[in-house]
Amino acid sequence: MSNPRDDDALFERLAAESNPSELPPESSPAGLRNKLYASLAARQRDDGAFETLAAVTTREAAMPSLKSRIYSALLARQAESGPLLALPAVKAGGRGLCVFEHLVRITSVGEKLQSFNYCRICHARVLGERMNHAPIYWPQCPYVRFQGR
Ligand SMILES: [Zn+2]
Repeated sequence: MSNPRDDDALFERLAAESNPSELPPESSPAGLRNKLYASLAARQRDDGAFETLAAVTTREAAMPSLKSRIYSALLARQAESGPLLALPAVKAGGRGLCVFEHLVRITSVGEKLQSFNYCRICHARVLGERMNHAPIYWPQCPYVRFQGR
């Protein structure tokens, strides 16, 4: 998966290597604005072609393994920015807890351990990320739900 920050680095390197004196001068802010409008209008026409193509294409559900990998990546990204919601709060919010989360919730561990992503170390994640018909059956586990169970 490409990292958007890598894309930024590429553009920064290209900008550093370019010589602005070789670029054609912009005639005026109005000329630049007109170029921008023309570019946006052209892009709008491209979107129309893609919308037509999408309208005649059969909609397919994402594969369970893809859903699992996306979920894992999103949770990892969320955990980078701070602690996850504690399990009691997750349960109070209406989401069921998978069997391991439930076991942790009913023990008297601290808030930090209640905010750990236990599905991250579960075999359900490993199988769910690699298989589209994974033999996993834990009730309430997101990786099992992605399998359509
Ligand atoms: Zn789980």
